Amino acid sequence: MNILLITILSSFLFYGCNTSNSVTSDASSTKVNNSAPYYWLPSTLPRNLKTSVDFSADETTAIREMATAWETAVDDQVNFFLTTDTTPEISSLSMNLDSVGEDGVNGVYKITSWPLSLSTRALAVTQIFGRRFNVGASNEYVRIEHADILVNENIYDFRTSDPGTAGSYDLRTVILHELGHFLGLGHKYGDTIMRPSIGTSFKMQAPSTSIDAPDLADRYGVTLALTPLNALVSAPKRPLSVGPQAPGDMIKIIIELHPTGECVHKENGVIINYHLTEL
Ligand SMILES: [Zn+2]
Repeated sequence: MNILLITILSSFLFYGCNTSNSVTSDASSTKVNNSAPYYWLPSTLPRNLKTSVDFSADETTAIREMATAWETAVDDQVNFFLTTDTTPEISSLSMNLDSVGEDGVNGVYKITSWPLSLSTRALAVTQIFGRRFNVGASNEYVRIEHADILVNENIYDFRTSDPGTAGSYDLRTVILHELGHFLGLGHKYGDTIMRPSIGTSFKMQAPSTSIDAPDLADRYGVTLALTPLNALVSAPKRPLSVGPQAPGDMIKIIIELHPTGECVHKENGVIINYHLTEL
């Protein structure tokens, strides 16, 4: 199936800020809903999240703690990740992201040679391969079939304890954000780790109970013991019914986290939305 997916896959969808609800596009002669929710089917969880052997012990611990933090956020009702394994590093200027997506490894990589195919300014990138179902229907969704996280250690420094080096970014904060994308979450504003940009001084090492936890709970069909009164009610919901399932476009999503507030949405290599955010 993966080979088929990669072969057919020809669209590039960059998606950043969660402001494209009204945007539809003609990805393969079918109108798709860019605000349709993304998630893993429960039967494909937990994912074996493998960390690059190039990460230090402290960095590996930080990454695994953030994986656990997303499970804690939904009262441990969903086991999203297994986090005991490591994987060889793939860092290379000529990295083929399709191959990285084909390898069957859900990796978190420490990239010291940032691939030329990605924006040099991205702090980190989450790559997702997925497939649309129920295209055009009210219960359209994207079934995530693969995901990887690339941390840009080529031009940025990341810290696992404060204060770290001058100009460094908090690794836990960045990883928590990228793991949110890994699980299907998009960008939001307010008290959320899913803000579209992260600065050097920003530190958030657990999902928020007001926005992030209820959003993820909705996405994976679980009910939190304590749902905050101010929970975001507009979060994309997992469809109550996912059938009959008519698979639509194979899509490749690249989500770039920028430190500048820059937010770029691309589909089929074309920018469909571009603006600057202020956080
Ligand atoms: Zn992001």
